[in-house]
Amino acid sequence: MNNKELIDLLEKTRHLDRQQWIALLESYTDEDRAYAAHKAAQTAVKVFGKEIFIRGIVEFSNVCRNDCYYCGIRKSNANCERYRLTKEQILDCCDAGYEYGFRTFVLQSGEDKSFTTDKLCDIVGSIKKAHPDCAVTLSVGELEYEDYKRLFDAGADRYLLRHETANPEHYRKLHPSDMSWQRRMDCLKQLKEIGYQTGCGMMVGAPYQTVEDIADDLMFVERFKPEMIGMGPFIPHKDTPFKDKPAGSYELTLFLISLCRLMLPDCLIPATTALGTIRPDGREHGVMAGANVIMPNLSPMNVRKKYLLYDGKICTGDESAQCRACLERRMESIGYKVIITRGDHKSYDKDSSLR
Ligand code: SF4
Repeated sequence: MNNKELIDLLEKTRHLDRQQWIALLESYTDEDRAYAAHKAAQTAVKVFGKEIFIRGIVEFSNVCRNDCYYCGIRKSNANCERYRLTKEQILDCCDAGYEYGFRTFVLQSGEDKSFTTDKLCDIVGSIKKAHPDCAVTLSVGELEYEDYKRLFDAGADRYLLRHETANPEHYRKLHPSDMSWQRRMDCLKQLKEIGYQTGCGMMVGAPYQTVEDIADDLMFVERFKPEMIGMGPFIPHKDTPFKDKPAGSYELTLFLISLCRLMLPDCLIPATTALGTIRPDGREHGVMAGANVIMPNLSPMNVRKKYLLYDGKICTGDESAQCRACLERRMESIGYKVIITRGDHKSYDKDSSLR
């Protein structure tokens, strides 16, 4: 089977076997990529129309107890100026975001244990009370089942936890020995069980990643059926052990967005800031490759430059209102419209959205 036939097969059956994935990933051309992007964008339009969901990210702490080798806010990075937002600052970001038309707030941080589950529940509950028509997404790393459950009961709707890699041996090369691939997989399973709209994802072109690893990632995505998939290219950070590793491929990231869209048509897939960091029009290309979500930053201006997971991150200098207007223009330039909505996954039970 040639690559176009494999892409057709994926579109039709939502499935490729491991050998087929590997064959496609090893030999795709720009023409194949354009073919997949075209089909993926058509698929996204069938599901979402030409509408783009936006989420406002609040990066509320860059303190982290972990030491992932690729990450700019890892605990060993002494050059990272640490900060924590107060509850009031977080709520102010959400209030301002609400005015700009955001109906989903993504609370993101390192694994900062000073934000206890009690504190986080209080923050989530306060956001939901102030803005009952909004969704809250958490991205605060690995927690115990009980903590995930309490946060869900406090009103959190979605959870992003990138699986990073479906291969435990590859995971070991990206993380120190006190972190566990199995634990990450267990967390993802628990999040789904509890009822979160759950997001997984990987770094494209992470150091030591092989074509087989990516095939395994795609097979994991097929099995796990996440409601969201976050995929961005690996971008090295100067203060990490991976500072000299090459960045991930922009083209491969776009191709994988297209393949994931064809595999899971309903999935919420962002065109990430990392894509926009590699190319100024990266997010537009992400949407044209099948993404349907963009996630601008709502964090206060004075902390944005401190939440640098990788070097060169864009949109650290624009006010939230400017960011929103800029993205709206960017989407309009390619014929899409940013809409004011929570933007839930289609499978989400609408009644429970009022909880
Ligand atoms: S990737 Fe996440 S868990 Fe790992 S060091 Fe960075 S913030 Fe911490």
